Amino acid sequence: MTAYTDLLAHQRETEALAQVAGRLGWDQETMMPRGAAEQRSEEMAAMEGVLHARRTDPRMGDWLAQAVADGPVAAAQLRHIRRSFDRATKVPAALAQEIARVTSMAQGIWADARARDDVAAFLPTLAEVIRLRREEAAALAQGGDLYDALIDDYEPGATAASIGAMFDRMRPRLVALRAAVLGAAYQPAPLQGSFPATGQMALSRELASAFGYDWNRGRLDLAVHPFSSGSGADVRITSRVAEGDPFNCFYSTIHEVGHACYEQGIDPAYALTPLGAGVSMGVHESQSRIYENQLGRSRAFTGWLHGRMVATFGDFGLRADDFHGTVNRVQSGYIRTEADEVHYNLHVMMRFDLERSLIRGDLAVADIEAAWNDRFLADFGVMVDKPSNGMLQDVHWSVGLFGYFPTYTLGNVYAGCLHQALRAAVPDLDAQLARGDTTAATGWLRANLQVHGGLYPPREVVERACGSAPTEGPLLDYLEAKFRGIYGI
Ligand code: ZN
Repeated sequence: MTAYTDLLAHQRETEALAQVAGRLGWDQETMMPRGAAEQRSEEMAAMEGVLHARRTDPRMGDWLAQAVADGPVAAAQLRHIRRSFDRATKVPAALAQEIARVTSMAQGIWADARARDDVAAFLPTLAEVIRLRREEAAALAQGGDLYDALIDDYEPGATAASIGAMFDRMRPRLVALRAAVLGAAYQPAPLQGSFPATGQMALSRELASAFGYDWNRGRLDLAVHPFSSGSGADVRITSRVAEGDPFNCFYSTIHEVGHACYEQGIDPAYALTPLGAGVSMGVHESQSRIYENQLGRSRAFTGWLHGRMVATFGDFGLRADDFHGTVNRVQSGYIRTEADEVHYNLHVMMRFDLERSLIRGDLAVADIEAAWNDRFLADFGVMVDKPSNGMLQDVHWSVGLFGYFPTYTLGNVYAGCLHQALRAAVPDLDAQLARGDTTAATGWLRANLQVHGGLYPPREVVERACGSAPTEGPLLDYLEAKFRGIYGI
């Protein structure tokens, strides 16, 4: 046996165990009885212990030193394994365990604080999470920028400087578009009525099928916060239902189907290897966003969806023509996850600046609420009315996800580039979408991006699909054309 073969055999078992751990997480959000929470946290901690030991196994250092790649696929496998081994071994085991313990506790403390709008109850825990993540970042960065070390966990190769410069270029056009849209004479009507849960879930399944979700390797369940989970032959999605807000259900489903189809679309030869999963959070989000927004909220596709909604729920008082505006209605609001396409990236930019200051140490945890509220007023022109509509709204910081927010906008930017290339490759895309047929669109994404899994670095896989390096231009052009069209400006 060569070192490479030994290394891959060890890695394959680690990947299989990681899939098992992931399925425990899925179960916790969908099926687990309430009384099992404490036992489950012990079960998951035990799995983490096994995984960490395997990921830092000293034999891996020897294998990596001796392994020789016989081609680009093997070279990519080694690149991923080396990177993960370096990161796992740079962080002391005691620190990694402390982070796992504190963040699992912090999530519950954050949820309680949010429910009671009690910032003070969350701040000591947040301070502790930030202290630990800074310590971890220092171990990883070895003299470099702490925030960059954290971003690298989610978007290898991205830096705060390059993301910040891109955000600076995007902001003026987004702000101008928002002003034009909110000041337009025409404003689309809101959706009204009640839409029974059974009909919403039936139509959700139809939407998942329309976007090419493989039910033979997946399933759809309900969860409080929709997510997708798993890789290879078992990729599950969740959605949620509110009878007054069917779009939440439909577009959550389509979004998660985008994530899931990326995983299902990866070359099966890569299953249970480091290449067998989406390459970064930003590229993952590009798939969920292009399915949800550029395809799912297009005029052509919403025309088809309107017909399916009338067939499912009866006439709900909107003509197909007006329905596209209703689906894409632009509204100022406090909550990032409910934001429309025009506002969404502005929410991300604000979080990016605030969390960078927190990690740098320029912003004290005691001042975060005031800093958040000042910034929200400056960016959105509205005073935050309560912390659950402000700094307590997102789970990310409680679980230590610093450096994650910018990947949402990176995903939007990548989706903009991919959409431009897709339109050029499939000239009659709208005629197909108007029939609820996404085969050509999803087929193009699969063949040009999804199939590669982790073979190429994030920006490179997008560049290969699009034929040029990704920039924010296509996303901004798309947003301006779409919303100027809808609002008649
Ligand atoms: Zn997503």
